[in-house]
Amino acid sequence: MAYDKNDRRPNKRGRKKVCAFCVEKVETIDYKDTAKLGRYTSDRAKILPRRVTGTCAYHQRELTTAIKRARHIALLPYTAD
Ligand SMILES: [Zn+2]
Repeated sequence: MAYDKNDRRPNKRGRKKVCAFCVEKVETIDYKDTAKLGRYTSDRAKILPRRVTGTCAYHQRELTTAIKRARHIALLPYTAD
């Protein structure tokens, strides 16, 4: 009768996310790495905000630049249709 699904509630905001690029010690994000960049865009091809991905300010900036470059040379879509 009890629904365990609703029971898993981490305290407050849940586990703290850590920037994936900092973990990998990436300094510059490769705009040609579409596989990686694609993970930071939504299904509508929008860039996901930091609060969703946990990316730090520095890497979010690098990421945004990389995604915009990739879009410019048509490696990534501007919008999903
Ligand atoms: Zn970072």
